[in-house]
Amino acid sequence: MAYEPPDPYFSIQVVLYQDALNPADLDCISLPVKGPESPKELVLLPAFITHADCARHEMGAHHPECPERLGAINDMLLVKGLLDYMNTYDAPLATTEQLARAHSTSYVSELMDASPLEGYHRVDPDTEMNPFTLTAALRAAGAAVQATDLVLSGEVPTAFCCVRPPGHHAERSAAMGFCFFNNVAVGIRHALSAHGLERVALIDFDVHHGNGSEDIFRGDERVLMCSIFEQGIYPFSGDDANGPNMVNVGLPSRSGSNAFRDAVTRHWLPALEAFKPQLIYISAGFDGHREDDMGNLGLVEADYEWVTQQLLSLARRHCQGRVISCLEGGYVLSPLARSVSAHVKVLIGAD
Ligand SMILES: [Zn+2]
Repeated sequence: MAYEPPDPYFSIQVVLYQDALNPADLDCISLPVKGPESPKELVLLPAFITHADCARHEMGAHHPECPERLGAINDMLLVKGLLDYMNTYDAPLATTEQLARAHSTSYVSELMDASPLEGYHRVDPDTEMNPFTLTAALRAAGAAVQATDLVLSGEVPTAFCCVRPPGHHAERSAAMGFCFFNNVAVGIRHALSAHGLERVALIDFDVHHGNGSEDIFRGDERVLMCSIFEQGIYPFSGDDANGPNMVNVGLPSRSGSNAFRDAVTRHWLPALEAFKPQLIYISAGFDGHREDDMGNLGLVEADYEWVTQQLLSLARRHCQGRVISCLEGGYVLSPLARSVSAHVKVLIGAD
């Protein structure tokens, strides 16, 4: 009989599951589900949506938006035991029809035609396509669509889309800033068009202003976009008044935790309470962390945990706790993984 090597992934899962049964080993889990049965059979679990294709897109050695970002997040969520409390889904490919709700059809066609068979195709000085980029971008947008279907059907309470490339700089007809399709915008337009929602909130706490999301949703009063970003850095937008559905708060460099929380409390929360969203999306960028050199806001894991708690609390009051989070920035692997862990812990109700 031929020797069959053990499945390493299965082995890891078993070890971690046994660890997860011992609460003393896990300071981060406080869910009531403990016992010999699989926890996945006992509660309605949040979704963790990702795909191996998202790690095949790369833009050259030393590019900060690198495939290792997803591995670092996945490893941290595994070690913390958080993935034991989520159902994992493979992100589907977004369809042309779904993309065309957020992007011009000519732009979608141009990007598909630009996909190189080998080497790189440069879109802007910091953004390039390799032969796998198009598929990764389609899956990243498809993850937001799937998250929308899962949450609105009641199959999952919340969802985290662990995908790349990110999306919030992608405008209606332009790729830029490491982004190709605006994942969260594709998800939101799916909620509005395919599910008939009338009021959806988009929260963006990436250190960079989400110019692409603003470009797509400016004047669309079905969507309330609330963002906090660092002033004076890429993409040098967001300071102008852009209509009643945009709540932009630009903060100076080195503002720190108190200024961030104050902006959320004074600007976001009253606007969200008045808007009464039926679903909340988060453009979850973690490059405002004080250890991430992409920005200088000076945030820490506890800030991401706190803002997620505020949003979950609001979602429970207005929309049955329905929140969909899509990964945006965050480029230094250790603070990225720690920050995502703090965010996801709240998202799955384990805080
Ligand atoms: Zn960013």
